[in-house]
Amino acid sequence: MLKFDHVTKVYKGGKKAVSDLNLEFNPGEFIVFIGPSGCGKTTTMKMINRLIEPSSGNIYINGKNIMEKDPVQLRREIGYVIQQIGLFPHMTIQQNISLIPKLLKWPEEKRRARAKELLKLVNMTEDYLDRYPHELSGGQQQRIGVLRALAADQPLILMDEPFGALDPITRDSLQDEFKKLQQTLGKTIVFVTHDMDEALKLADRIVILKDGQLVQVGTPDEILREPANDFVEEFIGKERLLQARPNIQTVEQVMNANPITITEDKSLSEAIQIMKEKRVDSLLVVDGNQVLKGYIDVEIIDQNRKKMVQVADVLETEFFAVEKETLVRDTIRKILKMGMKYVPVVDRHK
Ligand code: ADP
Ligand code: MG
Repeated sequence: MLKFDHVTKVYKGGKKAVSDLNLEFNPGEFIVFIGPSGCGKTTTMKMINRLIEPSSGNIYINGKNIMEKDPVQLRREIGYVIQQIGLFPHMTIQQNISLIPKLLKWPEEKRRARAKELLKLVNMTEDYLDRYPHELSGGQQQRIGVLRALAADQPLILMDEPFGALDPITRDSLQDEFKKLQQTLGKTIVFVTHDMDEALKLADRIVILKDGQLVQVGTPDEILREPANDFVEEFIGKERLLQARPNIQTVEQVMNANPITITEDKSLSEAIQIMKEKRVDSLLVVDGNQVLKGYIDVEIIDQNRKKMVQVADVLETEFFAVEKETLVRDTIRKILKMGMKYVPVVDRHK
């Protein structure tokens, strides 16, 4: 349905807002782009909508390069809620909802019928059609903003932080409403937020961006269970992580476990000994600030191959580039992903 192929955007002045984005989405998916302010979310949305052009790379909708579509055709395919642009105050609710249908030259009768139908979907009566935005509450205005994107019934809807300005209670109920609505309508939604709760609640798949780069893409469950790195973990927050996996050890818990000390010369044999005594699955050896080895007792995974294996050789070559703590955390994360239950950190110099 929607595909990014090596999409990069460099603004005038040299700011790289989006960097080599490669992604593919299915029809009917609810996709949430999330990342801190300035990470390139709005830029990405504007490129899908052809409000700006990628500096390189291509975007495809239903297999066709959007640069080959004319703008009117694109409008028939994409509905858009712009970040921080409210309703037009001098237009009635009906006129606000019907902006795009009007541009697409739908007859008046059809536009009004559609507006009525949409209001019903969000439990508002048709009495609202001829009112003006200031006669509605903030939450109601936001609903109308969403309906405006749905009005022309396009299969792809882009929404840039549509609930950003709302109080938490109104936002919560609108999220519920909108998720249900999407399930009924079956549209493909690309939704932008910087709020992880909102992303976890709404998304079929979450795309995490940082500094214009793709950090991780996955279902809310995958992201909660296997955050790609510290950045994602911090973004999710400790509480949510613990809630999501009460029986799985977190990197935090491992880091806080008491380290075991072994001497410098006999590390491997001592490691084996310690693993036997402590009945642990795996073990990390930290040496000073830079050298670290990971051992896994394969016996636990594979009864037929009774030997110790090193977690990965790459771990050793990358040490000089990163600070010890980050490295240890990343290694623990990798080991936890392999299904290990307990990973003590061993610092030989303690
Ligand atoms: P987000 O929506 O995630 O907050 P944006 O896509 O709006 O981020 O911006 C990404 C980066 O590109 C930011 O550093 C922003 O300052 C920069 N940027 C956005 N628009 C422009 C522009 N028109 N010209 C130059 N830089 C821009
Ligand atoms: Mg933005």
